[in-house]
Amino acid sequence: MEWDLSADGPFGVLISRDHEDVIVYQAKTTKAHQAHIILHEVGHIIAFDLAGERPPATVDRTCYSDRDERDAEIIASTIMSQAISMSRRVRSHGLDEPWRPSVFNSLVLTDGAV
Ligand SMILES: [Zn+2]
Repeated sequence: MEWDLSADGPFGVLISRDHEDVIVYQAKTTKAHQAHIILHEVGHIIAFDLAGERPPATVDRTCYSDRDERDAEIIASTIMSQAISMSRRVRSHGLDEPWRPSVFNSLVLTDGAV
């Protein structure tokens, strides 16, 4: 969910509920930065689930340890790298895949930079 977050606060916030996670990300930034913010928060979800350490939903999800932040960044960068790589391969083969707009365009900005 895009939101006008305070400029001196976090760029993204993860709100976990019993059956869903909501990622709130800064509205006042570039689409590329928004994509990274979202993937970073997804990285937190994946890292906690892989480690079996998911904090309770009531825990403030804006304060993480350095290890948690590192893990989230590694996962976010890995997902973005793989998405860009796949996008390049798809483009190089001239494939037009129906799932691409809903998946890749939400993660990879197709402005010709990839
Ligand atoms: Zn983080």
